Amino acid sequence: MGVSVSMLASGSRGNCAIVASACTKILVDAGISGRETFKRMKSLGEDPHSLSAILITHEHCDHVYGLATLAKKLRIPVFMTVATQQAWARALRNENGVRPQLEKWERFESGHSFQVGDIAVKPFTIPHDAVDPVGFTFRAEGIKVGIATDLGYLPVSVRDHLRGCDVLVMESNHDVEMLRVGPYPWSVKQRVMSRVGHLSNEALANFFTNDYDNSATFVVLAHLSQENNHPEIARREAEKALAMRGGLFQNRVLLASQSEALTPICL
Ligand SMILES: [Zn+2]
Ligand SMILES: [Zn+2]
Repeated sequence: MGVSVSMLASGSRGNCAIVASACTKILVDAGISGRETFKRMKSLGEDPHSLSAILITHEHCDHVYGLATLAKKLRIPVFMTVATQQAWARALRNENGVRPQLEKWERFESGHSFQVGDIAVKPFTIPHDAVDPVGFTFRAEGIKVGIATDLGYLPVSVRDHLRGCDVLVMESNHDVEMLRVGPYPWSVKQRVMSRVGHLSNEALANFFTNDYDNSATFVVLAHLSQENNHPEIARREAEKALAMRGGLFQNRVLLASQSEALTPICL
């Protein structure tokens, strides 16, 4: 049956994706409500109770909003780094300082591979203003999937991890000029543009032009800003850069959406 990637939601109002093999199904981030996650899975014909595990990239709300509910309802292992788990629990403590517990918390460390069923997961550090943020690559049945969103730039180490991916989910957060003249206060603009902020269309295009190995059958543009980007601008920038490398014929560019699940990518 191969490997599939389903983008359930992507953007600053919630991120959630599924990477699945024939016998393992991983939820990557839980940034929309439990109810909405269930709804979007069902819209794809997926049973939420068939999920094997939840993996969390970092503690920002748009990546963990539905985590407590989903962990409780599904009672499946939740993989988080120690620092991310602590930051998440600290943010959710009640007025008496009591922190929420995860029934099945599995710790991982950036740079150290681990296995979920038949999927090999490699977490790697990304530059972002969270306590211990990571991107992931997944390998199963000879297929490699890479997910890298929420990063201020693409360090060499991240570029290395993303080599040889058959499906590449990349942040294409903002158009620099739209952000510059857009409605955000200057402090927020600075945060987004910083080395620990979010990746622009231009920075991603630069990666495609200079450093990308043209390996992916599908390139998914993700975490698009609704205020400072436009899907067609992001697509145009990415396709232009891929075409310059002669890679557009190998790569199909898809856009992940905030409001609805994308048709699953199957390899
Ligand atoms: Zn985010
Ligand atoms: Zn973030």
